[in-house]
Amino acid sequence: MTSIRIRSAGSADPALIDDLVAANRILYDQGVVDAFGHISARHDKDPNRYLLSRSMAPALVTAADIMEFDLDSNPVDAHGRTTYLERFIHGEIYKIRPDVKAVVHSHSLGVLPFANTAIRLRPMNHMAGFLGSGPPVFEIRDTAGPESDMLIRNGGLGQALAKVLGSNHVLLMRGHGSVAAGQSIRHVVFRAIYTEVNARTAAEALKLGKPIFLNAREAAAAMKTNDAQIDRPWSLWKQQATRT
Ligand code: MN
Repeated sequence: MTSIRIRSAGSADPALIDDLVAANRILYDQGVVDAFGHISARHDKDPNRYLLSRSMAPALVTAADIMEFDLDSNPVDAHGRTTYLERFIHGEIYKIRPDVKAVVHSHSLGVLPFANTAIRLRPMNHMAGFLGSGPPVFEIRDTAGPESDMLIRNGGLGQALAKVLGSNHVLLMRGHGSVAAGQSIRHVVFRAIYTEVNARTAAEALKLGKPIFLNAREAAAAMKTNDAQIDRPWSLWKQQATRT
């Protein structure tokens, strides 16, 4: 663990923390994360800080588990808590994408056929318009060589991954999983869920024949419509995931 002392940006908006905790539970409830995977949000008081749980299963996260990090992914307030090995995914994306306010990393299985083959993941229906003409695939061997454990465990790998993401909303990781980026926690949760749903339906369609996907204009228009209605699925998913 690092011994660097970094000043805190102060308390985040409690509503932002509430959404981040709910998002952890929703992503588990919807089958996007299991014991692994994580979601972060940019700090509302300082764009050079982000918020992410300590290392634990997302479905168990509470407000007390949320930690603050700088964009090099050093914890500001570790207090002996352990951090996710792959937190660099988040910090390095926030560095180069000022428009991004939340990031999800998951290992959901539906995307892997598209991460591990040359078949591009393209939008099957309007809910997945954010996929555009298909997410890029990050090949860790291009940066780490042939002997990595596949994890984004340092800033250099995170930087390489963020560069491949570029201006896209989703990135696939060969042999590993995916990343979604968005302008809010609600938007990124929507994208993470529909990336997985779209991957499953696209795989089915590819078995039948040659699917017709949304073209770039349809995808962009559908994304704009869905982005404006983000609170509707959020309230449903939140109620489902947080009911006792
Ligand atoms: Mn991972």
